[in-house]
Amino acid sequence: MTVTDDVPLIDQHCHAVLARDPEPAEFAGGLTEAATAGTRDRWHSSLGLAVRRWCAPVLDLPAHASPEDYLERRAELGWWEATQRLLRAAGVEHWLVDTGHAPSPGLGPGEVCGAGHEVVRIEQVAETLASRVESPAGLLDGFREGLRERAAGAVALKTVVAYRSGLDVPGECPPDRDAAAAAEGWLRSGGTRLNDPVLHAWVVHEATRIGAELGLPLQFHTGFGDDDLHLREVDPLLLTDFLRATRDSGVAVVLLHCWPFHRNAAYLAHVFDHVSVDIGLTLPFVGVRADDVLAEALELAPFDSVLYSSDGSVLPELHHLGAVLWRHHFGRLLDSWLADDMVDIGTAERLAFGVGAGNAARLHPRLG
Ligand SMILES: [Zn+2]
Repeated sequence: MTVTDDVPLIDQHCHAVLARDPEPAEFAGGLTEAATAGTRDRWHSSLGLAVRRWCAPVLDLPAHASPEDYLERRAELGWWEATQRLLRAAGVEHWLVDTGHAPSPGLGPGEVCGAGHEVVRIEQVAETLASRVESPAGLLDGFREGLRERAAGAVALKTVVAYRSGLDVPGECPPDRDAAAAAEGWLRSGGTRLNDPVLHAWVVHEATRIGAELGLPLQFHTGFGDDDLHLREVDPLLLTDFLRATRDSGVAVVLLHCWPFHRNAAYLAHVFDHVSVDIGLTLPFVGVRADDVLAEALELAPFDSVLYSSDGSVLPELHHLGAVLWRHHFGRLLDSWLADDMVDIGTAERLAFGVGAGNAARLHPRLG
């Protein structure tokens, strides 16, 4: 028993799961951030070991079952049964689902168990408008209106500016005339993937204003992710000017994932009251080192700024592993603090509950 065992989790950032049986190569592709599984054996990794250790028993197999036995049993049960078992066993009450990236066909985890809530990807709002608006000014007005509309039923906003022009977002919002000039060029070039840095900075600042007005946190992808980002451009420290400029704006900023910059993210949460840090990080990816990664994040981050998430996507194994590995490693970390008499049991329980659910509940009033 550890203090994390019974915490009902809020998974404050995840994605839909695949609503059909995956092919073996597709499953292996889900175990990596590379674009495809490639020629490497993706099971032969920390994440592969975690699936065999923690997911196999949920499908009635012994721990450490071989990848072949795992996939055979999964196919025998079928995707729906496997998905139900894995998601239910995660012990999550609320799933905050980024709908900007979903498998096809996809299923929100909240349709299986717990409650699902939408996180709106702000770039998607701009990109959807591009083919419909008649002028650059129409794009700016349409974005303001469209984001408010999409946000009406959502619990948070999310930006992937890290993947496009990087996190060096200016502290000042570009004036509308500069954003309109940038929008003109972007629309002329086809207006598909929002990648103009000036227009993107404007979109992020507008979303910040709208998030503050509606009480919705703005999540930033930072650090490790798919292979179309430049890791050198996604250190959350690059957001320092933006964070300094928005500290009194009323918006809550959530730094997602963060690895290998989780210590930098923790520093930002330390110095800026409106910044929270997502400690779900990439726990399934870092394997036996998860205790240390969690401990590093907790060096500087105020404990009420730390949030759990899985970033699970496509494979329900990832939603499951996010939760069980958080319970396992965070529980072990707090056990070691208790053994060292660094903390009393009541405070350890408060810390575990806060990170698992309480801090996210406070940040997302719409969860009710
Ligand atoms: Zn994500």
